[in-house]
Amino acid sequence: MRSNPKIVSFGTAGFVANTAKLSREQMREAVESVSCSALSNCALEDEDALRSTVEIAAVDWCNENRVPVKHAAAIERATLEELALEKPVKPNKGRSMPKVEASFNRHFDTLVRVFPDFGTVELCVDELAGNDNGAGSERQFGYCADERPLVVAFAPKTEQLPTQYIDGLMAHELGHACEFRYGVPKLEKRWGKLPASIERRADKIASHVFKRPIEYGELDIQCVGCGGKKMRPRRLG
Ligand SMILES: [Zn+2]
Repeated sequence: MRSNPKIVSFGTAGFVANTAKLSREQMREAVESVSCSALSNCALEDEDALRSTVEIAAVDWCNENRVPVKHAAAIERATLEELALEKPVKPNKGRSMPKVEASFNRHFDTLVRVFPDFGTVELCVDELAGNDNGAGSERQFGYCADERPLVVAFAPKTEQLPTQYIDGLMAHELGHACEFRYGVPKLEKRWGKLPASIERRADKIASHVFKRPIEYGELDIQCVGCGGKKMRPRRLG
């Protein structure tokens, strides 16, 4: 089954804007579920503190570079999902990323040959991913969100990269998607032991699925066939 990629506006901009619509009571309920001690010191009576806590959690939730999506437990997931359902303030449905979309199509075709039951993956553009403004980092081009359907999202700047890098990033994010879809034990049954680090594991899964090693090129990001480093440098986490 071919997943129809649709470029839709996703992400942090919408999340953060939507937190402005939460009532004080909704924010307090969300923040009372905080498990992280740094955040639990937040004064529940202080509306500004409440609001910034919710904003930080929303950004973290959709930015795996800062907090792995699965572990962003600071705010009730249900609250974040409600926020995500709200329309982003600045929808950007017109943006097109033809190179990214073409890479997605090529990779998705291979993915469903390897895993015919994979299901849908949604391709999104996240306007704020990759901005070094507290919502992302300059090195960040993409991430995978453990949603149903699964989402791979890319910053608009990804489109400007050489194809070898776009393909490397795409393979890596779809490596995460495989893990979210099937879980590590099932994948290890098929391919043997996988790396303990979540990022190296995504690269390894991608190299099994797409039959090309993931390298790290001059930009310190994933690429294929670029003559870069053979393994993710440790300093990148
Ligand atoms: Zn990753």
